[in-house]
Amino acid sequence: MIFHNRPTVGKKEIDAVKKAISSGYLSQGKEVSKFERNFANYMGIDEKNVVAVSNGTSALYLALWALGAKNKKTIYPTYSCSSIRNASALIGAKEKLCDVEMNSPNMSPLNGKEGDIIIAPHMYGFPINLLKKKGIIIIEDVCQSLGSTTKGKPLGLLGDLSIFSFYATKMITSCGQGGMIISKDKYLIKEIVDYVNFDNRRDKKKRFNFQMSDVQAAMGRVQFSRLNEFIEKRDKIFRYYKNLGLPLIDIKYKNKNTSPVRYRIILMCKNPELIKRKLFLKNIAVINPLETQELLSENKK
Ligand SMILES: *Cc1c(COP(=O)(O)O)cnc(C)c1O
Repeated sequence: MIFHNRPTVGKKEIDAVKKAISSGYLSQGKEVSKFERNFANYMGIDEKNVVAVSNGTSALYLALWALGAKNKKTIYPTYSCSSIRNASALIGAKEKLCDVEMNSPNMSPLNGKEGDIIIAPHMYGFPINLLKKKGIIIIEDVCQSLGSTTKGKPLGLLGDLSIFSFYATKMITSCGQGGMIISKDKYLIKEIVDYVNFDNRRDKKKRFNFQMSDVQAAMGRVQFSRLNEFIEKRDKIFRYYKNLGLPLIDIKYKNKNTSPVRYRIILMCKNPELIKRKLFLKNIAVINPLETQELLSENKK
């Protein structure tokens, strides 16, 4: 059976996890710092602009928290991961849904007002053509698009804050759960770093626990070093199906310098249930990503 998605985990990952466990130090320590440094190097930023956290949802919650999003307007697309709706609700923001482009899983270019927070998920590995407008705050959600580039630069450098997920089925994983936040604003990262660890504090400030463990980071670091290998493998699979002449979505922006990762391959068809059944008979598992429960709005249109 070819599964719809499955992590690629090898000996290197297992060895790294074993080593982390045998070190006797299981909570946050050197491995997490090293993972943050590796990530910062890849993004071309300082390690003070990066913080590792427990997962992508907490990364998003923390980004909203750092921006003081309570009672502010958050704008995000009707079609995306429900984690966005959940984090936005938990922080107490006022949600406003926007539409999705034709023949694309990405949000339409939109107009926010001064002070609004736009949560922009680069869906399925396809970079959104984002324009940074004055006064509008952007959180780039790169959970599905680690490795995609625009003008040779990795996604996530445009937003005020950007978030990443290392959940089991993402481009890379850190033992099934994990996340990262980056920001140009060192102060915001400093605030988050202070907030995610409650232990051994001298003051009475309220904090929480959103930390990544060293065991997670040890595996995350190995997976991260294999990112190019994973990107190439996915690209090879994509080209294989594409060369069979299947109508696969391959968004080509006017900007030729955009390079997507093949996080998901989308087949356009009139009767997805039929295609699903037929592929299943060939031992290929697929899902229909457009069922109404996938939508974040109540409106079923
Ligand atoms: C997976 C995902 C998240 C949430 O990440 P978790 O690590 O699963 O909490 C958020 N946004 C998008 C677009 C995702 O795909």
